[in-house]
Amino acid sequence: WAKADGKSQWALFEPERDAQELTRYSLSSALPAALVRQDLLLHYQPLRRLADGSLHGVEALVRWNHPRLGLLGPENFIALAEQSGSIVALGRHVLQVACRQAFAWFGASDSGPFVSVNLATRQLREESLVEDVRRALTNSGLRPQQLQLEITESAVIGTDPLTGRTLQALADMGVRLAIDDFGTGYSNLIYLRRLPLDELKLDRTFLRELPGEEGKDSLDVQLLASLISLAHLLNLTVTAEGVETQAQLELLLSLGCDAGQGTFFGAARPPTEISGLPDLERAVGSPEARAGDGPI
Ligand code: C2E
Ligand code: MG
Ligand code: MG
Ligand code: MG
Repeated sequence: WAKADGKSQWALFEPERDAQELTRYSLSSALPAALVRQDLLLHYQPLRRLADGSLHGVEALVRWNHPRLGLLGPENFIALAEQSGSIVALGRHVLQVACRQAFAWFGASDSGPFVSVNLATRQLREESLVEDVRRALTNSGLRPQQLQLEITESAVIGTDPLTGRTLQALADMGVRLAIDDFGTGYSNLIYLRRLPLDELKLDRTFLRELPGEEGKDSLDVQLLASLISLAHLLNLTVTAEGVETQAQLELLLSLGCDAGQGTFFGAARPPTEISGLPDLERAVGSPEARAGDGPI
């Protein structure tokens, strides 16, 4: 009888969509408990300087070790957490754990590699963010220069005065600020110029088809070259995302790009596996390097 009223009724019972809705709903409502139960953990991915391969930083990338569904990537729950508001608690945890892990790896230092933490738009709109960041630094012992916060273009677009003040307060504290996935939003460098930024992370879509057949003569390559020059003119460090091949690395190097991140340098891994990187061992050289392992 469900069919009697035609398509709309039928759609109500469409099994696949219902299952998806149910999954979304149950994931969203399970997230706060997962935080408490410490089912969320961080993987880390290296950012390397192209010129000498040295470690520029490590990006913290959240995972959810779901008791039934296994290891879930952020695409499965970050948007849900933004909608429900639990992103604020999640983000606070991520900050704390990432800073503690970075301190275990690098100690306190005024130079050297940083840990890079992604911020959701919603977090940037919270009055508590600056205090959350300050507390994560104080609790861990990490210096502000050793923490980078990644924000997207869409998070800083428009003229929300609170966001502007928040970014300035973080910059004044000495924390590094990066624009993540640059090139996927509607913003532009001229606009971003007004913000206290340190780094531009070029989205991997720029690299996806490079180097192509035409090599350095192609319009795509020239566009990338101009973007990197413009970023340098604005005093920004440029990191390319999605570096997967030696050819891409060489192209980026020839274009003056500063750093890269991608499977060529290593995928995101649990902290125990990251500790084995020779560069980190040189930076740390002590067994405490493993202190920050495990769930949040
Ligand atoms: P993102 O910040 O742009 O992070 C880079 C993503 O690209 C990561 O996916 C990483 O594993 C993947 N990736 C790295 N190298 C390569 C490569 O060479 N090729 C390809 N195809 N992919 C590569 P992941 O870990 O699934 O994270 C996805 C997104 O989720 C992140 O994109 C970030 O926007 C968001 N995210 C991750 N952790 C957090 C977090 O703690 N808080 C918030 N708010 N967002 C997070
Ligand atoms: Mg990121
Ligand atoms: Mg990114
Ligand atoms: Mg990206």
